[in-house]
Amino acid sequence: MRLMPALLIFCGLIVTGCEEAPTEQSTNEPSANDSLRAHSAEFKKGVVQVADNVHVAIGYGLANSILIEGTDGVIVVDTTESVGVARKVKAEFDKITDKPVKAIIYTHNHADHVLGSGVFVGDDNPEIYSYVTTPEHIDKILQVIRPIIYKRSMRQFGTFLPKEARVNAGISLFLDQGPDTLVDLRRPTKTFSGEMTEIEVAGVKMELHFAPGETPDQIFVWLPDQKILLPGDNYYHSFPNLYAIRGTSYRDVMDWVRSLDKMRALKPEILVPSHTRPVVGQERIYQNLTDYRDAIQYIHDQTVKAMNDGLDLREIVEKVKLPPHLAQKPYLQEFYGRVDWSVRSVFTGYLGWFGGNATDLEALPKRTEADNMANLAGGVETLRANAVQAFDNGQLQWALQLTDYLLVLDPEDEVAAETRIKALTSLAKVQISANSRNYYLTQALEQNGLKMAEPNPAMIPDGMLASFPISQYMHAMRVSLDAEKSADVETTIGFDFTDTGEKFGILVRKGVAEVVNEFPENPDATLRTETFVWKEILARRRNAAIAFASGDVEIDGSIIDMLAFLSLFQPPEN
Ligand SMILES: [Zn+2]
Repeated sequence: MRLMPALLIFCGLIVTGCEEAPTEQSTNEPSANDSLRAHSAEFKKGVVQVADNVHVAIGYGLANSILIEGTDGVIVVDTTESVGVARKVKAEFDKITDKPVKAIIYTHNHADHVLGSGVFVGDDNPEIYSYVTTPEHIDKILQVIRPIIYKRSMRQFGTFLPKEARVNAGISLFLDQGPDTLVDLRRPTKTFSGEMTEIEVAGVKMELHFAPGETPDQIFVWLPDQKILLPGDNYYHSFPNLYAIRGTSYRDVMDWVRSLDKMRALKPEILVPSHTRPVVGQERIYQNLTDYRDAIQYIHDQTVKAMNDGLDLREIVEKVKLPPHLAQKPYLQEFYGRVDWSVRSVFTGYLGWFGGNATDLEALPKRTEADNMANLAGGVETLRANAVQAFDNGQLQWALQLTDYLLVLDPEDEVAAETRIKALTSLAKVQISANSRNYYLTQALEQNGLKMAEPNPAMIPDGMLASFPISQYMHAMRVSLDAEKSADVETTIGFDFTDTGEKFGILVRKGVAEVVNEFPENPDATLRTETFVWKEILARRRNAAIAFASGDVEIDGSIIDMLAFLSLFQPPEN
């Protein structure tokens, strides 16, 4: 059964309306892989007590939040992805104890662990601990690649799907992120470098261990007196996400194995991951961690061996599968990460995009390849008939590939569009990975006209905006330069921030914007303002022309010229 186009369009445009969709619409629900559906039991909402003083909130948002109670205060490990989720969790934690929050610990930089932190900070002013590189990773995601990561994350997590089309997110029920989600990130106040640091908060002794894996800034928290281990995202009940289809830099999977070995060596008795349910019992935990590290090392080593044997990427993807004793483990099912994507990631991690075949050195432009395919098929009509036939034969991937050609030749090709939507929806039904299921269904919606709304700039509170260094905003401007508009532009603008005393220069040289951390010599114009005002302009919360005219931004030079300069930088439309 496929999604009805009308429903797709309706739900795409009015997501909140779909939250309360009438029950008869559930007849349009695309069916899902049975194992993935059964996996939802893992995320039963509630606060689970794992020790006298340790509780974990599961199923409120994408990530768990863990409460450790000490003598005169509490520690919160990971803070969920939004203010809304964090408030629900905090309300549950407040029923357990009214002690103040003395510390927050981020296991790593990902949004689902840090964006609800303002709620736990409240008026308690706790220290926020993380690894030393966590802030720079936060900045990279929020400043440099945010537009594309947002769009691809929305697909991976199925944010724009109607509620009845969702099953779960593989490591939790659902990510509470969307264009109008209120977030409140507080930056770390205490970071550590090196292998490990010991801290004591509210009488609770903790070891924070550097454990790169799912992210290069990952840490785990060890409570030595109780032998409780909080592994962050280096362990959860699914095959690990060695690669994320929302887009990620290479995750060094052998680092991940070494981090799991550090955990095994501690012989934990209770394991409280930041996704999925706790695991109890020393032997069981040791077995799970051993299987987990073996699965990762197996994929890594066999991919590298096949590379060295001279196989190309597609051949390696076909060849490398988990051995049966690992493939059957319930905690290694591909609900989130997938073996085939992991093989690709290891290959490109070592060798980059070029697979080694000279044919790929100069790939044809999309349009030329599509024209050639149509000619080969005997014309567009036959190519289209082949696509329809492929779908009818159950060759879903081939049908998708053919519709790619057809839609390059004519984006308005209705038969190709319909075939593509049907193929995507049918592929979604059989996915065990929530990520690919959500991605297929969301692209079906997009094929049917869904335009994903951009994040609403008003959903970032002033305190969070203020906390990001202005240098991040200045340097991130580089990647929004319009190369065509600036092809003949050579200009230098000086920036003087009166509140912090920081000075910058932006030197536009024919398609390149060099950003320097000093006031440039002989600028063509100078802009003087407070950092917060400039951040608001770049975040599109404040109109530049009005700010220039009102004097909130002082300009030595022409306002018209400065607006023209700004127009060279094109942040995504809101
Ligand atoms: Zn996570």
